[in-house]
Amino acid sequence: MSAVIPIQVDSGCGDLPVLRERGQREVFCGLTGIIWLHRKIQDAFFLVVGSRTCAHLIQSAAGVMIFAEPRFATAIIDERDLAGIADANEELDRVVRRLLERRPDIRMLFLVGSCPSEVIKLDLSRAAERLSREFLPQVRVLNYSGSGIETTFTQGEDACLAALVPQLPVAGANDAASLLVVGCLPDVVEDQFARLFKAIGLPPVSFFPPRSSRALPAVGPNTRYLLAQPFLTDTARALEQRGARRLAAPFPFGVEGTTEWLRAAASAFGIRAADFERATSPARERAVQSLLRHRESLQGKRIFFFPDSQLEIPLARFLARELGMQLTEVGTPYLHREHLRQELAWLPQDTTLSEGQDVEKQLDRCRDLAPDLVVCGLGLANPLEAEGLTTKWAIELVFSPVHGYEQAADLAGLFARPLQRRAKLTTEVACN
Ligand code: SF4
Repeated sequence: MSAVIPIQVDSGCGDLPVLRERGQREVFCGLTGIIWLHRKIQDAFFLVVGSRTCAHLIQSAAGVMIFAEPRFATAIIDERDLAGIADANEELDRVVRRLLERRPDIRMLFLVGSCPSEVIKLDLSRAAERLSREFLPQVRVLNYSGSGIETTFTQGEDACLAALVPQLPVAGANDAASLLVVGCLPDVVEDQFARLFKAIGLPPVSFFPPRSSRALPAVGPNTRYLLAQPFLTDTARALEQRGARRLAAPFPFGVEGTTEWLRAAASAFGIRAADFERATSPARERAVQSLLRHRESLQGKRIFFFPDSQLEIPLARFLARELGMQLTEVGTPYLHREHLRQELAWLPQDTTLSEGQDVEKQLDRCRDLAPDLVVCGLGLANPLEAEGLTTKWAIELVFSPVHGYEQAADLAGLFARPLQRRAKLTTEVACN
């Protein structure tokens, strides 16, 4: 893909200008989301309908799974013409039947689309309907696309959850108000939040996706939901269509983000300010203390974000406000103004924001700025390290538990470590 649209600059987010670029991108596709989704929904299986490249990505990204009974696989569709599509459908049905016979523990099966033209010709939503009819009620078959043409790295999760929303049971207009936390969180983080919500005095909170496909939360006009991840645009839209309403909040990264995220829920459910303070202050104070040791390494350091995980804006806000880092450029694949309203208001007013990517131009800007730390995908990290820049892999920020008070220091540590490693290397080289 090459640049086709010239750079546009507008000042759509408060006073912050946004540099818009469309050109060659350096990001993983949405298949990557399977790596954390399969850990979360423990009775689901992800069958990628794709090429050998897809199989290779999934195998290498999730290499550790060779030690366990895997919950993802790739049905490889080889090159074929239109006349071969009927065969491809039959072949897919055969693969699914074989899989479900062999693995009676599977309760939910996702057919995940990919980019090869042979796969695009297949109608996976019809295949999912057909197979659902065959296997209901034991197994629900759903589909979504993880194709690199349609999705970037974290959008696979969005597409998966949006496909799941229509399956959620109906909560009626007379049902009690409920709170739903939306976005994959590691179980340990989910448990911490559940304890905090309880201590604050909120009614039982559900998490989406749930750990079991048999425990789908009900949704309806009295459902209020909090987004735990900033990349869930389609999921949010699907929930709104079911009557749920989003609670406007920043994202729960760092002390400030976590506090205001929790406060948004507390306010919506009429919790008194004093009760909120009492319930949250011990964890909040511990988190503030835990950040101090990283502030020393990070304060004043200049950071540059390539667009990758869509976590860039909340993370940049956390690093600037709580750790004193200087933001040189904050790139994000997509900027959802409404979901990021509070985050954007918290960014320093001189922050350069960019949306989309034209990688060569962005690399030039990065080199000119010579930041202390560059956050980027795996494909850019090695060449930039070779040029003497210090990098942090964006993918690690999605794989690691980083939400909430207890993880605030770990999140800061993910940025501090590459700088400490570089400082150590420089000292060792100087000593030799
Ligand atoms: Fe498969 Fe397309 Fe992702 Fe490549 S970019 S691994 S072909 S889905």
